[in-house]
Amino acid sequence: MSFKARYECFNGCPGAVYPLDEVIYRCRECGGLLDVVHDMDGLRGHDAATWKSIFDGRRGTTTWPYGSGVWSKKEWVLPGVDAEAIVSMCEGNTNLFWAERFGRELGMSDLWVKLCGNTHTGSFKDLGMTALVSQVNHMRRRGVNIPAVGCASTGDTSAALAAYCAAADIPAVVFLPADRISLAQLVQPLANGALVLSLDTDFDGCMKLIQDVVSRIPIYLANSMNSLRLEGQKTVAIEIVQQFDWEVPDWVIVPGGNLGNVYALGKGFLMMRELGLTRRLPRIVCAQAHNANPLYRAYRDGFATYAPMQAEQTLASAIQIGDPVSIHRAIRSLQAHDGVVEEATEDELMDASARADRTGMFCCPHTGVALAALIKLRANGTIGPKERTVVVSTAHGLKFADTKSAYHAGTLEGLACNQANPPVAMPPDADRVLDLLQERLKL
Ligand SMILES: *Cc1c(COP(=O)(O)O)cnc(C)c1O
Ligand SMILES: [Zn+2]
Repeated sequence: MSFKARYECFNGCPGAVYPLDEVIYRCRECGGLLDVVHDMDGLRGHDAATWKSIFDGRRGTTTWPYGSGVWSKKEWVLPGVDAEAIVSMCEGNTNLFWAERFGRELGMSDLWVKLCGNTHTGSFKDLGMTALVSQVNHMRRRGVNIPAVGCASTGDTSAALAAYCAAADIPAVVFLPADRISLAQLVQPLANGALVLSLDTDFDGCMKLIQDVVSRIPIYLANSMNSLRLEGQKTVAIEIVQQFDWEVPDWVIVPGGNLGNVYALGKGFLMMRELGLTRRLPRIVCAQAHNANPLYRAYRDGFATYAPMQAEQTLASAIQIGDPVSIHRAIRSLQAHDGVVEEATEDELMDASARADRTGMFCCPHTGVALAALIKLRANGTIGPKERTVVVSTAHGLKFADTKSAYHAGTLEGLACNQANPPVAMPPDADRVLDLLQERLKL
């Protein structure tokens, strides 16, 4: 059986149809974003039960390339990429765990966390990057002139791009905002041999610059305006449902910045329903940092208006974006999923993350934004006590050890650090240590 996908204009321009093997980012008619559209009739060549058993049968396999969480869904992701061109480091297949204690503290019995940061470069950006770099590798092998791949990034995209390009021996260039990303995020592309430009501007500034540059030289653009990545990112939705034995949860909460992921998640749920693997859709919550909340502002206004904003500094640095490229497709996806948008202040996101950590997690600040949204929506009754809720944890907490350490030291400027648990400095003296233990452990 053969499966096909192609680009179409997201705004539906008739005739705006392009092969995936073409270097193109926007519709030639209207300049709008492109969407990867699958031949659904072709995919219907297998019934729902067959797809489920194909996907279930690939779990944990070492048969190339199906051991990857993304490529185990290859026919639904990028069916036209040759298996030999795929650049994969076994991304995805991340754990989905029952957050029993944290859920209990919030008065809910069915809370789950999907740990998408437990993957190759420590963030869920790997899922999309394996798709994009594989497509680029496929095109290069067919003689398309792509001397390098580049992106502007708030840290995680560049780490993923650098790693996947290094694996395929493709030159990578990354544009980063100076002093606005974590040490771990900076060292990753350096270690993987990317050309790293540290620029005295914010993410939105880096984005404008790289778009200007790629219009003059043939560097392939890997930002999330590039719809290939979303095909990999959408597998989060499929994986969650598969992990629940093909049952759809009631709510899925994801932090949002450039908003490609809230769209991609929705796309995954819609595709499963369309092909009969599921019958309903979850409600989706997009959680934004108060300091970078253009989607939240539009939502408060019933999506009647939208205005880009100047994003303020947020510790959730990967979502410090004031002019999200995927705003319109995110809104469309939220509307299809009876969606909610919530926001979190700096105190709320760091405190929520620390509270969850006290129950055994180790959350990044973006996951903290999602958890703060969960706390609010549970407290105001939007999310019911028995509703099955999945929080998408987008990066590994260890990537943000600097921010988290500063929180526990109580040195984050302007923050209360309510849950700080600072280390106790002591002389190596048994009596003093005993006194302290008796006091602190109430012995
Ligand atoms: C990219 C990213 C997000 C947000 O995804 P968008 O598609 O930009 O909305 C959230 N968390 C982390 C850790 C990220 O790297
Ligand atoms: Zn168009």
